[in-house]
Amino acid sequence: MALKDSVKPGNRAGWRRARISLNPGALAHNLEKVRENAPHSQVMAVIKANAYGHGLLSAAAQLDSADMFAVAMPGEALALRQGGCDKPLLVLHGCSSLTELQQLSEHGVSVVVHQQAQLDMLQGAELPGPVDVWLKVDTGMHRAGISPQQVSGFYKALKAEPAVASVFLMSHFANADEVGNALNNKQIEMFVKVTSNYSARRSMANSAAILSLSHSHFDIVRPGIMLYGSSPFADCPAAELGLEAVMQFEAPLLEIKTVPAGESIGYGSRYRCEVDTRVGLVAAGYADGYPRHAGDRTPVWLNGQRCPLLGRVSMDSLCIDLTGVDAAVGDRVVLWGRELPVDEVAQMSETIAYELLCHAGVAADIL
Ligand SMILES: *Cc1c(COP(=O)(O)O)cnc(C)c1O
Repeated sequence: MALKDSVKPGNRAGWRRARISLNPGALAHNLEKVRENAPHSQVMAVIKANAYGHGLLSAAAQLDSADMFAVAMPGEALALRQGGCDKPLLVLHGCSSLTELQQLSEHGVSVVVHQQAQLDMLQGAELPGPVDVWLKVDTGMHRAGISPQQVSGFYKALKAEPAVASVFLMSHFANADEVGNALNNKQIEMFVKVTSNYSARRSMANSAAILSLSHSHFDIVRPGIMLYGSSPFADCPAAELGLEAVMQFEAPLLEIKTVPAGESIGYGSRYRCEVDTRVGLVAAGYADGYPRHAGDRTPVWLNGQRCPLLGRVSMDSLCIDLTGVDAAVGDRVVLWGRELPVDEVAQMSETIAYELLCHAGVAADIL
């Protein structure tokens, strides 16, 4: 478990800063939910961006029952190997140089091919051993991937290449988080159309598709956000999907005071007190990864109650409304975690949980 500093949770007197920890067992629980939803597919757990801020190596250790892992960059795959991870690994961005390709081959890491330059690099490459290649097809997202027309040419070239071991076929959804969006089925149909002539194993589904598009599961599913206990759907809470919060983001209450009616709180005086208001100062700010764009009334959790944020979030602190709340200096405030879904904070901050989790992980320097 990664903690932000060496101060133990029980040691209130010494607890001055925000801290992040991982709820034990939650990653494994959420992986089990993936298996329940996609019982006929293998699971490639996506642990890019430092496992969405949760710490690459600790997340990998807790997701040990996944069949394989995906990361974005070659460096992340090498860090996993150095950390002792011997699972099948896929680098989603693929390689941008022959040196990288040779290193990944040496460590038995698979690569995505999504552009001509990556095919060129493989052809005739002298590698420590052949690599598995995941050919990425653009079925309508128009981010990365070769066009449907290019599939047969690329596929044949890869199959003929001695530097290539197995070939897999993959694609990615643009709108899977919107159940019923017409592009979802169009993408699936296109993927089926351009891949069904080949015996290669196929992969398409991210978290949202795992939960809502069972005909997109194919051989391997690629969950990310649901593993971390956040819902991919704006209108469906994670708890309803049976998911458990993994990241626990907490900070101590530093001070309690009353701000008189008519006075304002924080930078820009954004929040103005209508009545005399009992205000709490919390030791978490945007330097800790709490979103500066959180709106007034974004909830935090304290002693079983929800307290609204008041005014702008500062670098190392924020203020909350303690009206009617039983609170004392040193109490544990939950910014998000078991008691309060990160998705709610994200919605109040006009962003998505993906961004909040990544930022909090960077701020806490989890490794
Ligand atoms: C990030 C990513 C995923 C995981 O997406 P979630 O929405 O977090 O489940 C799957 N596949 C690819 C290619 C990705 O880049």
